[in-house]
Amino acid sequence: MQLRYATNLDVEQYIESKAWSDAKLTHCPLHPKGGCKFARHGTYSRKFPDGVKIARWYCSKGHVTFSMLPDCLCSRLPGTLIEVEDVINQMENSSSQEAAVENIRLDIGLPGALRWMRRRLFLIRITLMLLIDLVTSLGDCQPTVSSFRSVLGTEFVLPQLRMFASPYLDILPPPLGFGPRPERKKSKKSYFQHKTGTDPP
Ligand SMILES: [Zn+2]
Repeated sequence: MQLRYATNLDVEQYIESKAWSDAKLTHCPLHPKGGCKFARHGTYSRKFPDGVKIARWYCSKGHVTFSMLPDCLCSRLPGTLIEVEDVINQMENSSSQEAAVENIRLDIGLPGALRWMRRRLFLIRITLMLLIDLVTSLGDCQPTVSSFRSVLGTEFVLPQLRMFASPYLDILPPPLGFGPRPERKKSKKSYFQHKTGTDPP
């Protein structure tokens, strides 16, 4: 299960200071009264960015692993929230998705790059739409990064939104939230279904 590690470190600072060692989880989220042999369970590494580790705990009674994801990193996608935001921003400011791809991914072919980009756009659009519904002060936003940037008055909105939307992270999709991935073909209801399960390694 993914939990928020509230920190305003960017990813370079997170790696440099090995901030995963400072992550704290004082009691088991499932058994606040204890008695479940809850203990620190080392770290796991992520391939991207290189050198990133995530602090982990394990509840023996519930057979559940908890990992604390810092605010700079994506959930269930490699890389940082700022990298995803850059992609969305380029898409919003390009004449077409094909034109945006040329600035973003030259390492893979066009169909693959479009799929890669559209997956991110789809997830972030849904997240922004949900936040507009959930958070009264965001009610006037459009579901675009540029609209959220101007309403929140910040250069990068996604790391800010991890903080701002912390009560809703369990229902918001990745890479911002810790909820399930929405499926394109199903009804809207599936966005809110909360699946439990362990994190990918
Ligand atoms: Zn427990």
